[in-house]
This record gives sequence, C-alpha cells and structure tokens, in this order.
Amino acid sequence: MRVRFWGVRGSLPSPGPSTVRYGGNSVCVEVRLADDTCIVLDAGTGIRQLGNALAAEAHRTPIHLFITHGHWDHIMGLPFFGPVYTPDTTIVLHATTERSVRGFRKADIFDVAHFPVAFTELPARFQRVEEFGNHRVGSATVRHIELNHPGGATGFRVDDADGTSICYLTDNELDPPGERASTPEQLARFAAGTDLLIHDAQYVADDMPAKRGWGHSVVDQVLALARDAEARAVALHHHDPDRDDAALDAIAEHAARWTRAHAPALRAHVAREGLTIASHDSRDLATAATIGAPRS
Ligand SMILES: [Zn+2]
Ligand SMILES: [Zn+2]
Repeated sequence: MRVRFWGVRGSLPSPGPSTVRYGGNSVCVEVRLADDTCIVLDAGTGIRQLGNALAAEAHRTPIHLFITHGHWDHIMGLPFFGPVYTPDTTIVLHATTERSVRGFRKADIFDVAHFPVAFTELPARFQRVEEFGNHRVGSATVRHIELNHPGGATGFRVDDADGTSICYLTDNELDPPGERASTPEQLARFAAGTDLLIHDAQYVADDMPAKRGWGHSVVDQVLALARDAEARAVALHHHDPDRDDAALDAIAEHAARWTRAHAPALRAHVAREGLTIASHDSRDLATAATIGAPRS
C-alpha cells in the first residue's frame, strides 16, 4: 500500500510564500492498494493535482471516493477533479452513514449556485455504494467510525489483503466538551496496530481552551492516541491555515521530542503535500518524496 498527501490544510486553503513547503491545499489523500486500486480520501483542493496525475498515468480503473464529511475544505476540489469530466472514468461514491448518503445525493457543490455544472451533467460514470457495514474495495476492506466533530464526521480504516493498513481520522476532537461519538479508547482500538495513523492535529496546546469544541485535536493528544493504538507511524494532518512553514517545523521538532520520550518506536510525520509513505515499511518512509517525483 502507498499513501500520498495531495492536500494537508484544514478549514481553508492557505497558499502563499509562508506555506510553500508544507503546502496550502485543503485535505486530500490518495491510497494505492497492493492491487493498484485507487482510493481517494476527501476532496479538498489537493484533489485537482491528483486528477492531473491520474490523467498523466492514463488511469483507467474505478476511482473510489470516501468523504469524511461535507465541510467545504473536504469537498471544494471536486469540481476541479479532472476525472469527473472524462466519460470513460468510473467514480465510486462510497457512503457509509445516512449523513454521507444525503451528502452524495444532494451534491450541494454541483447545485449550479456554487458551481455552474450540475452533477447530472458530469460526463463520468458514477456508482453509489450505500452500505453502512464494511466496504470491500479492490484488495482491501474499508471500515468506518464516527468522529467527534460539529455536524459529524466519519473516519476510515483501510486494511489491505497483504496485511498493511492505514487509518484516516479527520476531522476529530479527541477531548470534546459534551457528548462523544467515539472515546479515545474506541479510536485506539479502531486504529490498533495500524501502519499509519493520519489524524487531525490542527491545534497546539496554546490554542486551548479558546478553540475547545471547534472539532479538532491538539498535537500531543494525537501523538498519545498513536502510541496507545500502537501505530507504527503517525501523520499529523489538517493543519491550521494560519500555521506557516516555520510553525509546522516547530511541531515536527516537538513531535520528535515527544516520541523520543514517550513512544520511541513511533515514527511521527507532519503531513505535507507530496509526502508519500509506503505503509509496508513505515521505518523507511519516503520522506524525500515531493510532488512531481516519480513513484517508486
Ligand atoms: Zn476540515
Ligand atoms: Zn470539518
């Protein structure tokens, strides 16, 4: 399995000279299974360049799309995803909850008010899989869990037939005020032993308590979850739009210190555009990968 980050920003894209190293596109992650099936997690603005890459490789097999929730940073790239305009492309819309069934059926972003092309006018073939249990996708099984986020969000775990796995948990507040959809213990069980935990880490300790209840987690909470889940690697994801490259470098240094002290076997990454991780070997992660670099 191979994971590539095409967008790592939460809330709003944040392009510009101060974010050029980590990237300003909103969230989108590509997962390639052992059998080369393509799964796309979220459709933020990063999905535009993924579409270009799929076109460049003349990708022909179905593209499987899972959306965590309908907040705009997770869907706003979809009208600019080239494969939706390609008639011989099949895009499978995977709904795992009532909320996601409604979201895909309404397709608000293609309501002509938000974008000029209606969903029914898109040339691609769309298939809907509306199943609230596990989804079988190519060589993998995709499971889901409800997250702590205003309006709800769904996290996913992809287990490939070769034994590798990733978890994608965003947007999620690990210590929310009030009722929880999932406790940290339930989330740790869901992510148990995964090769790579990708988790919302929008905030640092100084952001609290002002941003408690906003639906996102603090870096240290995410590192502790990864340790408790015995994940092999964690990727801090969904960065605050105001977090510039220097601030994200500081988070990377903080995470390295934290893991040395509390979880020496855990490898911590700060997600950035172009980061590619082969989850069968998270000890030797391809941290040098950049956008445009050839796949290996
Ligand atoms: Zn978000
Ligand atoms: Zn959200």
